[in-house]
Amino acid sequence: MEIKTVNLLREWFRHYYNRYGEGLAPPNAEMREFAHIPFTTEDHTLMSRHQTLKKDEIARFLAEKSPRHVYYSTAYYKTPGAPTMEGKTWLGADLTFDLDADHLEVPCKKEHDRWRCPKCNKTGWGKKPGRCPTCGNPGLEENTWICDKCLGLVANETTRIIEEFLIPDFGFSKNEIAVNFSGRRGYHIHIYNKAVRQLDQRARREIVDYITARGLEPKLHGIPPIPGSHGPLETDPGWRGRLASCAKGELEKELARHGLKPSDDLWRRISEGYWDQFKGWGEKKWRDIAVRGSSLRSGKTDEPVTTDIKRLIRLPNSLHGGSGFKVCPVRDPTEFDPLKDSLVFPMSKTVEIKIFEHAPPIRIADDTYGPYSPGEELELPLGAAIFYLCNEVAEVVSGV
Ligand SMILES: [Zn+2]
Ligand SMILES: [Zn+2]
Repeated sequence: MEIKTVNLLREWFRHYYNRYGEGLAPPNAEMREFAHIPFTTEDHTLMSRHQTLKKDEIARFLAEKSPRHVYYSTAYYKTPGAPTMEGKTWLGADLTFDLDADHLEVPCKKEHDRWRCPKCNKTGWGKKPGRCPTCGNPGLEENTWICDKCLGLVANETTRIIEEFLIPDFGFSKNEIAVNFSGRRGYHIHIYNKAVRQLDQRARREIVDYITARGLEPKLHGIPPIPGSHGPLETDPGWRGRLASCAKGELEKELARHGLKPSDDLWRRISEGYWDQFKGWGEKKWRDIAVRGSSLRSGKTDEPVTTDIKRLIRLPNSLHGGSGFKVCPVRDPTEFDPLKDSLVFPMSKTVEIKIFEHAPPIRIADDTYGPYSPGEELELPLGAAIFYLCNEVAEVVSGV
């Protein structure tokens, strides 16, 4: 990042924190570790960690430093500012989930994500391979992008995890679940409930395993059904009900393929859990249904974020330095428009920027920008220009 770009971004981020920095405190701020990454002209910037901030110091700190990224610990510590993790004395941690376009099979990835081999300069579209196909270098660079499609899919997945797992299966109430747009590629779910604070890593892994259906044993849920006995019902709670509903859907599809419809009587008996009324499937078919059902209905969440009890996570309402968007609290992700609602910089001012990396098209607020190619000079509204600058595909030529 050139110095002109650093200065412009730092100034506008400072402007934001001066104006909106008050109230940017997580619950129990004084028990958290804070960390930040500054804007710099260097390629690799170190994170400053082990900071403590009282609730009323956060706004001033952010306005003074105007950092590129700000994080706080999901953990509560006795001495959060201690320079070593052992010295902090861990007291507990919120339960958090991270949903990101990276963890979903998003079809648009191959339209807007690129990778490059720094050794031989080979480039390609889509998710980066494990190694460079030309020279075998494992250290490939990735240039990810966002669009309405992937953000929409992640929003749906976030809502599904809350409504299919966290509320009905785990019993959390809506008012102890907070959702934030991460500022770029996804959403964070924070659970502020005293009962989960003390959970250790293993317990949190169990929760992730449950949601992602890892190690799900269909036999324990009555699949395949035992002849003459009562099998799973669609209305059963948890995975048992989910598997039953998948099996029912599968049965309907299969009958339809043969131009058949289940008779009322068969359907009623199956709805009562008497699966042996249907004689068409062997054990393998049932196993396939369980596998497909668990993959279809499982939640796609990033395991390390949930199981790490000392995780740093973006501070809600701070700015994401890889997009310039706000880490925005969200009531309903499916109603939220991240590319509009998390925009904080005015579109009435303009900045002249020069593109130096291929930039796929993106909608910001009500307009679509790009695609742009290296070398193009553009005058863009500030909010859009900051997106390109933060994504490191452009530098400032001149502007506000
Ligand atoms: Zn290579
Ligand atoms: Zn996309």
